[in-house]
Amino acid sequence: MRTAAFGPSQIDLPVLGQGTWNMERDPPGEALAALEAGIDAGLRHIDTAELYGSGRVETLLGPLVARRRAELYLVSKVLPSNASYAGTIAACERSLKRLRTDRLDLYLLHWPGSYPLEDTIRAFEKLRSDGKIRAYGVSNFDVDELDAAVAIAGAGRIVCNQVLYHLEERAIEHRVIPRCRNLGVAVVAYSPLGSGCFPSAPSSRGAVLARLAAKRGVTPYQLALAFLLRQGGVFAIPKAARIQHVLENAAAGELVLDAAELSALDAAFPAKRKRGLPML
Ligand code: NAP
Repeated sequence: MRTAAFGPSQIDLPVLGQGTWNMERDPPGEALAALEAGIDAGLRHIDTAELYGSGRVETLLGPLVARRRAELYLVSKVLPSNASYAGTIAACERSLKRLRTDRLDLYLLHWPGSYPLEDTIRAFEKLRSDGKIRAYGVSNFDVDELDAAVAIAGAGRIVCNQVLYHLEERAIEHRVIPRCRNLGVAVVAYSPLGSGCFPSAPSSRGAVLARLAAKRGVTPYQLALAFLLRQGGVFAIPKAARIQHVLENAAAGELVLDAAELSALDAAFPAKRKRGLPML
């Protein structure tokens, strides 16, 4: 699995991790076995949130985290509605308890909310100095919001911006990715496989993807992940509750597309501009 420097964190992370949204709906044994197979295959960046299943996903992950903690890069997120100074600290404590650990590697504000960002970042700093989190970042932040966060936190503090990014939703390539790169903030692509809406063969775009994948001897999903990972500073966290999917995703971390493949995908899935930041 390829690794790359993860923002300003001084840590090299595999370019692919594992998402866990909606995992409370999957058969728990199968989902946990898939996650563990993923960790064995190098997908040790595990992304979760207090939002997911209203805490049930963190609870589901707890036993796995307890067993494999040292290997993981564990990420959770505070809901904007909890992101006051005291609320952020209390939310983190609850996540730690559900996840059966004493620290998170990264804690994110899930999306911009109404509490002053200064308060949330002050809480992140307190959690950091108390050893409850190693680092912090943001999610669903457009360029102006990211600038504000960096101005408040100071250079080198905001480790990543986790944003919606997949073949059919490339708007962040215009402004968000370049701004993250300038600020030294890692981009983490969420829903990198379209969150259940993946381009398939009956559509002309899906046919292009399927043809290129067949020529390479990989799956269209692997090709889609490799396309996102063509750029430095971009990481992705596909969610998969089936071992076969997880292993395919892990293998995509090794896949480097050539110029012809990249330009065929670029033409079939153009990077359209959007007025605001797209999010799920
Ligand atoms: P996704 O990763 O784009 O897609 C997940 C779907 O793709 C699942 O149905 C999964 O099936 C399937 N899949 C995975 N690998 C596959 C493969 N190799 N071949 C075929 N199908 C495959 O969707 P997502 O869950 O929305 O996004 C990923 C993660 O990003 C989330 O889980 C969450 O951690 C994070 N996220 C963050 C935000 C945010 O606001 N910060 C928002 C959304 C998501 P199976 O599960 O059946 O294997």
